[in-house]
Amino acid sequence: MKTALEQYDPQIFELIRQEEARQSGSIRLIPSENYVSKAVMQASASCMTNKYAEGYPGRRYYEGQQVTDLIEKMAQQRVKKLFKADHANVQPYSGSVANLGAYTALINPGDTIMGMSLIHGGHLTHGWKVSVTSKFFKSVPYPVSTETGRLDFNVIEELAKEHRPKVIISGATAYPREIDFEAFGTIARDVGAYHVSDIAHIAGLVVAGIHKSPVPYADIVSTTSHKTLRGPRGGMLLCKKEHADAVDRAVFPGLQGGPHMHTLTAIAVAMAEADTPEFVAYAKQVVKNAKALAERLLEHGFNLVSGGTDNHLILLDLRNKNVRGKKVAKALDRARIVTNYNTIPGDPSPPADPSGLRLGTPAITTRGMKEPEARQIADFINTVVENIDNEAVIQNIGKEVLLLCSQFPVPEHFIIPNKHNAASSR
Ligand SMILES: *Cc1c(COP(=O)(O)O)cnc(C)c1O
Repeated sequence: MKTALEQYDPQIFELIRQEEARQSGSIRLIPSENYVSKAVMQASASCMTNKYAEGYPGRRYYEGQQVTDLIEKMAQQRVKKLFKADHANVQPYSGSVANLGAYTALINPGDTIMGMSLIHGGHLTHGWKVSVTSKFFKSVPYPVSTETGRLDFNVIEELAKEHRPKVIISGATAYPREIDFEAFGTIARDVGAYHVSDIAHIAGLVVAGIHKSPVPYADIVSTTSHKTLRGPRGGMLLCKKEHADAVDRAVFPGLQGGPHMHTLTAIAVAMAEADTPEFVAYAKQVVKNAKALAERLLEHGFNLVSGGTDNHLILLDLRNKNVRGKKVAKALDRARIVTNYNTIPGDPSPPADPSGLRLGTPAITTRGMKEPEARQIADFINTVVENIDNEAVIQNIGKEVLLLCSQFPVPEHFIIPNKHNAASSR
């Protein structure tokens, strides 16, 4: 029987089918991407998309909130339990809006913010020059050491003392090492700044206890729900009690209208999934896979920024291979290995055609791949780079990738066991 979508809009139906085939027939190494469970997919494709719920549970601007109030409260409870936070706002449409919400909850336009430079691994919304965050606020980016690829807290402290920012942002989008959130908290306190921590990438590692949580050391913690946390595409803010009202007002009515209730509902489901031993095991395997991938790449003579990884991602420095990131990313894509080109700290090449390539293991780990497959993928990458102008070799790797993908099918119907899950009954 044809589905409604297939009957009504065969073109879009077909394109979705093609995207499904692409996602299952390729190795997705983009560290911000993942596969959600069937349960999360169902919640996000539910009737919750039909409902307006401006405001917060118990104080909405539209009637008919009998169910939405219950769901939003449940989502908040689960997030608070998982991250051990005083307060949670689950309404931000994305990580970018969540960051804007964090800043506008704490400071005024024209105040100074200090975040990691985009070309050193920070996010656009940490004050990069093309983002509104550098137009509404004065932005002082901090670097990582171009020698070690790591954060240098002496440099950050000096910059903070010189520029006296009102907000210091910890967290990154392309940083392969564990971040010392306590050190950021100390510097912020010493210069009278607020500390906003953005764990969009590593939230899943934080809830699994693999990386230390910034919650005790930050005024506000911002995150996405869709990266290592493996939920639907959305954003969240966690904070101490004293900032709860400011955070809620900053998100609504400050930045947004009605929350995307279907996303918020799917976030509630994803948080129940993340509160299980199965998720902890998943997150541990994500890091093991990244380490195995890194070690094998090192054996092949690749240089890695900072020499390796503590998390789910790797930043390849391709300069010694005499080829730039974009060319490699495009060749790998033809070999069914999906990555993104990326700047490396101190990159001599421009961001549009940089020297680096960013790799990550959240998606392959959801497919059930382990260290042997991670090493095999490193071998594929090496073969493509060594044969970057040989299309026949690249196409051949594509066939091998397809074979590997068929052995680890996308877990379209994977269900996280709910038996351990205390959150679901509360
Ligand atoms: C991905 C990311 C964001 C933005 O998330 P969107 O949902 O794409 O808006 C914010 N901060 C960091 C550090 C990120 O990696």
